[in-house]
Amino acid sequence: MNKKIQPYTYSTEIRCPHCMHKGKFRMTTLMDTHEDPDAAKKIMSGDCFSFTCSHCNAVQFLSYTCLYHDGSRKLLIGCADTQKDFERMVQQMNGEKTETKLDLAVSEWMKDCTSRITAGPAEFQESVLIHELGLDDRIIQIAKVLLLDEAGIDDPDAYFNTDGENYVITAYSDNQEINLSFDMKEYDMLVSAYHEQLEEVLVCSQSWAREFLEKHA
Ligand SMILES: [Zn+2]
Repeated sequence: MNKKIQPYTYSTEIRCPHCMHKGKFRMTTLMDTHEDPDAAKKIMSGDCFSFTCSHCNAVQFLSYTCLYHDGSRKLLIGCADTQKDFERMVQQMNGEKTETKLDLAVSEWMKDCTSRITAGPAEFQESVLIHELGLDDRIIQIAKVLLLDEAGIDDPDAYFNTDGENYVITAYSDNQEINLSFDMKEYDMLVSAYHEQLEEVLVCSQSWAREFLEKHA
């Protein structure tokens, strides 16, 4: 049972799969930087999706549907845990849902926010990181596809990261981790090459970038 402890924050009981000890997990379904200035940090570190057992310290990863809103950066990113939630979020962001206070808040934010819907925590974390770095996620997804193709790697779950200096695309091929790096200059080259063709998108994924590149080859 999820128990509401404040708006959008719930406490839920989790059983540790290692020692069977029960503990409480706090789940926040709306992470707003206005309420929690560290929201982005907690998403990127995975803290908000991790349950640490108080008995044996085992860490369990928990996925759930949530929203991230940063009013000062004008950013709204959704994390949909299931296909049903994904579809609901699309309707919510298209202003077709007006049942809850959150539906109404989302349709207000949509007016001036860059808005994205991601399919699960991994894509969600990647999207928050890219926007925190002030980068255009559409360009990053395009860079990802180009780098993967150049390296001959087919990994639909490759993700973006940074080592502080370079940008890195981490992919798996034959169970091996492969890091493909690119720098700010290469990023800027892609911006100049594609910025005129870029359109607003709600779902900015690797498959979106593939379609985009096919259309604008
Ligand atoms: Zn435990």
